[in-house]
Amino acid sequence: MKLAFFGAEGKVGRALVPVLERAGHEVRGFEIGDEIDVRGLDAAVDFTSPDAAPDNVRTALDQGVSCVVGTTGWDPQPLHDVAANAGLRLFVAPNFSIGAVLMMRFAQAAAVYFPRAEIIELHNESKKDAPSGTARTTAGLIGRDPVIHSVRLPGLVAHQEVLFGGEGELLTIRHDTTARESFAPGVLLALDHLAELPPGLTVGLDSLL
Ligand code: NAP
Repeated sequence: MKLAFFGAEGKVGRALVPVLERAGHEVRGFEIGDEIDVRGLDAAVDFTSPDAAPDNVRTALDQGVSCVVGTTGWDPQPLHDVAANAGLRLFVAPNFSIGAVLMMRFAQAAAVYFPRAEIIELHNESKKDAPSGTARTTAGLIGRDPVIHSVRLPGLVAHQEVLFGGEGELLTIRHDTTARESFAPGVLLALDHLAELPPGLTVGLDSLL
């Protein structure tokens, strides 16, 4: 596919662009201040910031290009109609790591038996939003509004623990992202299935697994 990549020079972008190219995609990178002209491309990928993503996505949709978005901390819902009315796809995933999606599924299964849960999400200090999109999604799946603790420190990539406390036992479900390449299989999966999705907004890698 011919792809636009918003945020190609960011931490995720630098890890993902080479993987996308090795998989046979042709990637045109965009950074802050670049004039956005994505007309004629097959899809746009966005890993930027909560401030930048809404405009990038809106512009790509206005230019007739479907989007795959990993940027967290913004609400894509208002763009559902824009995409749907144009017959385009807007796929947004708070976490493109397949292991993290399984961690969320396992937590949802455990929540049926353990009413008390708390979430600890740990990310690199450069992450701009808190709590993380993954922690918020996990909380929604568990239900009962669990407390979320956010840690931001150097040395971390992306990690999450879901702790379930019962009488005399503690169940911990933990996922660690140790390298940003872990997001590549999920992004490739989303690009492969983009055309099969219904027009409009689809949220979560879960819907593709
Ligand atoms: P980052 O290192 O700060 O990279 C963001 C990049 O986007 C930077 O190069 C930034 O440029 C650039 N940028 C900012 N505004 C832009 C614009 N308007 N157009 C084009 N590029 C723009 O952050 P990151 O760690 O790569 O993460 C990016 C986003 O992805 C964050 O929201 C993060 O939470 C999210 N994320 C999601 C997943 C997932 O699986 N869904 C995984 C990891 C991260 P400057 O440096 O010049 O500002």
